[in-house]
Amino acid sequence: MNDLSRLAVHTITTKPWPLATALRKYADAGAKGISVWKESLGDIKPAAAASLIRAAGLKTVSMVRGGFFPAPMAGERNKKIVDNLALIEASAELGAPLLVLVCGADPRVRLAEARKQVEEGIAAMLPAARRAGVRLAIEPLHPMYADARSVVNTMRQANDLCESFADPFLGVAVDVYHVWWDPELEAQIGRCGSLGKIFAFHVCDWLTPTVDFLNDRGLMGEGCIDIPLIRSWVEKAGFSGFSEVEIFSERLWALDQDAFLARIVEAFKEFV
Ligand code: ZN
Repeated sequence: MNDLSRLAVHTITTKPWPLATALRKYADAGAKGISVWKESLGDIKPAAAASLIRAAGLKTVSMVRGGFFPAPMAGERNKKIVDNLALIEASAELGAPLLVLVCGADPRVRLAEARKQVEEGIAAMLPAARRAGVRLAIEPLHPMYADARSVVNTMRQANDLCESFADPFLGVAVDVYHVWWDPELEAQIGRCGSLGKIFAFHVCDWLTPTVDFLNDRGLMGEGCIDIPLIRSWVEKAGFSGFSEVEIFSERLWALDQDAFLARIVEAFKEFV
């Protein structure tokens, strides 16, 4: 049984709750950390959210999520950079030490070109990230998203990017939902750890059948991912941060969220 000292929850997980409700409920349930989806800020200024989070006794783990770099036209790509730079500022005001990057993809942009545009996007963000003291985490996404969400799909790719930038402000968010299937996973997690690049660890589960590519993730223990095994790999590789519960699920959002949060806590103890 896990204790809750490493439990963090992403605000998207309990999407029906406004941020002020979510952070109070997480703290009451025994969670110690929160990752804030920018959409959940609503009208609350990041600095005000930071005060609420501190007052609840939670630690801000990350701001979610920037990136989405590729686009066919340069003007569009530049606008994304501007938005990303603003998000770095917002992350700093929120007191988030980390900004998660969903690197992006666009079906109008060929893969090789899109991957180059991702590198250009990261390069454009790193100076501002360093100035703000906000680290960036590349989150490789499952290959089913390579058309429209991310052209970075494996831990190997994320590690390669980290190695080529060699910047202390750039690392990786390991999300079991996206990488569990990878035959190289253990080796690439080990490599990521030896580079000092495991910045975050996200958990949920893979359902069979998955009825919606985006919003049908499972609660830990409901699916086929061996989460304790993957967690043992990231910890063997030196990671000692939070296990962040990040679940998008129409089915689970439709439940009473108090009851759902109680299930999250139980699942965390047993299946993470
Ligand atoms: Zn994630």
